[in-house]
Formats: sequence, C-alpha cells, structure tokens
Amino acid sequence: MQGKRGLVMGVANDRSLGWGIAAACAAQGAELAFSYQGEALEKRVRPLAAGIGSSLLMPCDVGDDDSIDAAFASLAQHWDGIDFLVHAIGFADKQYLRGRYVDTPRAAFLQALDISCYSFSAVARRAAAMMRPGGAMLTLTYLGAERWTPHYNVMGVAKAALEASVRYLAADLGPQNIRVNALSAGPIRTLAASGIGDFRYILKWNQYNSPLRRNVTIEDVGGAGMYLLSELAAGVTGEVHHVDAGYHIQGMKNPDAPDI
Ligand code: NAD
Repeated sequence: MQGKRGLVMGVANDRSLGWGIAAACAAQGAELAFSYQGEALEKRVRPLAAGIGSSLLMPCDVGDDDSIDAAFASLAQHWDGIDFLVHAIGFADKQYLRGRYVDTPRAAFLQALDISCYSFSAVARRAAAMMRPGGAMLTLTYLGAERWTPHYNVMGVAKAALEASVRYLAADLGPQNIRVNALSAGPIRTLAASGIGDFRYILKWNQYNSPLRRNVTIEDVGGAGMYLLSELAAGVTGEVHHVDAGYHIQGMKNPDAPDI
C-alpha cells in the first residue's frame, strides 16, 4: 500500500471495524485521511489517526449532501487524488433493532436505508471523481442481509440494498478501473453493535457454530479489507467477501456446540 492514499469514513474508536482496516492499510505504508461524524468523535479519532501518522481529518455527516460535499472539498485541498475509500458506516434507530421487523415504521426504515445504504453511493460518486485508475472502494455488511438473523430487522434490509448497490457501483465504475467490494464481517462488539438486541447471545452462537469455533476480530477484518483495497485483489470487484470464521456456510448447529 506504499504510495497509496485512502479516505476512511466511520471510525468511532479503536474497536471500530473501520479502524481495523485503517490500521492494516497504514501498517503496509498507506497514507490515510479520516472523516468523523461530529465533534465528540473527533476527540476519539484525532489521537488514533495521529498514532499512525495522519493529521488529515474532516467532519462528515453522510445524511447531509452539503456535509459530504464539504468533506470532499476539504480532502481535495490537500490531496490531488485518492486510491481507496473505506465506508464503515451504518445506523438504524435501536428501538427497531429488537422485536419484529414487521413493526418498522416508515421514518425508521428510510433513515436506516439512507445512512446505511444510500450514503455509500453518495460518497462513491464523489470519491470516484478524484480516484486514480486502479482504485478501490470497500463497504461493510453483515450476514443479516442474506438470511434472517435475530433483531437485525431493518438493518438486514438496508444491508441487502447495500450489497445490491455494490454490484451496481462495480458495474458503473469498472470502466474507470475502479473496484467496489463489500466485506461481510461476523459479529464484533462495537458501539454500533451495542444497539442490536441480545448481541451477547449472537456472539456466543457464532463462536460455537462457526467452522473455526471463534469470533472474528477487527484484525481479521483489517487483513481481508486491506487485501480487497490492494492490488492483490486487482481482479476482484462486485464481491461480498465473508470474514466470519466461516459461519455463513453453516446449515445447522455444530454437533459440539454447548447450550447458550
Ligand atoms: P462503530 O460504531 O465503531 O462505527 C459505526 C460508524 O458509523 C461510527 O463511526 C459512526 O460515527 C458512523 N455513522 C453513523 N451514522 C453516521 C452519519 N450520519 N454520518 C457519518 N457517520 C455516521 O461500529 P462498527 O461495528 O465498526 O460499524 C462499522 C460498519 O461495520 C457498519 O456498517 C456496520 O453495520 C458494519 N458491521 C459491523 C459488524 C459488527 O458486528 N460490529 C458486523 C458486520 C458489519
């Protein structure tokens, strides 16, 4: 990743999946910029960024087009181009990340789809305008897009739309030699995950029932994310790559899984 410049959107703290990817890219020599959602998070992200030699930070609320434009204008003042984009952003009102999906009101649905799905297309358009050929974009998704998982509800629907948008973005940007992929991570305890009902149960279930008999870490996500953003994955686009200790292949419980 030496000589590559990337924008990482969605680091909240050192447990964030975005941070795992940023750290892995920085370790391979990438130069990074970060966007953060608000002042409170800036206080967390600035020292993390400084620790890997980055001082290029800008606020960005992806629910607001003016804020996205301002973030990319600020980036363009410092860099004449970028090589990769990490979109590690998702949000749904936690009131609807428990109970039944069928009870989701329109406003909560639209907000979840806006922040968790449309925002990737919105930032991809701006990033593509300043991305060099050979560049790559990556978003984060979860198995709840493909299958029912408890409490994921409207986020599952938003992630399904996000995965579909990865395929359309890959087709649109392929002629510019820009790749677009998604990384489907297993459950990891983060700020965003704390909003999901019974998350401790979900973690245990995945640990006992995945082929590797463990949960994944942000280092696992970082390694695979770095690969997808690097030239090692030059022939890979439109893909949803699972980093979940193999859990997505399971058809039934592992016979040795203890009761939870
Ligand atoms: P996190 O809380 O560390 O990161 C979520 C980020 O989204 C935060 O930085 C937050 O500021 C940002 N965000 C939310 N609304 C925003 C807005 N309007 N504008 C700008 N930024 C906004 O949690 P995480 O688990 O690292 O989440 C990162 C991504 O990984 C999300 O897309 C999430 O769905 C996905 N993911 C997480 C898991 C998991 O188990 N933690 C599993 C699979 C996928």
